[in-house]
Amino acid sequence: MKHDSAHCVFCAIIAGDAPASIVHHDDRCIAFMNLRPLHAGEFMVIPLVHIDHFTDMPDDLAAHIMVVGQRLGRRMMQVYAPKRVGYVVHGFGVPHAHLNVVPLRDSGDIVSAKHIVRTDTGFRIAHDAVPMRERADLDADAARLRGDQ
Ligand SMILES: [Zn+2]
Repeated sequence: MKHDSAHCVFCAIIAGDAPASIVHHDDRCIAFMNLRPLHAGEFMVIPLVHIDHFTDMPDDLAAHIMVVGQRLGRRMMQVYAPKRVGYVVHGFGVPHAHLNVVPLRDSGDIVSAKHIVRTDTGFRIAHDAVPMRERADLDADAARLRGDQ
């Protein structure tokens, strides 16, 4: 199956055609809450342009996304008080580069057993194995990270 911006849920979020709990928006990137956070406060930062692989982004765009993740990560530390703030890039879910910013309460939270599902041939990581968080809670998380409350 071909993936391009016309069939990309993240591009739909950027266009305002799909729901998201927005934390940050500027002329190069947008940040919004992860629908299936391991812990409350998990969000992602994505470029406004449709680029599949994080490694294909121009240096200045990749750096900007990391800095936005870092700034919001400081707010995450204040609001949610995790032990650490982790960054994860894998791209297996949506083929539009995204930096996951993850509140870590335990070293295992970076790849949790909650993400592991059994298959016919063994096991695999499935991020949709974690339950979806209610939109109202995601909106409240976004407001807390923005500093609205
Ligand atoms: Zn896209």
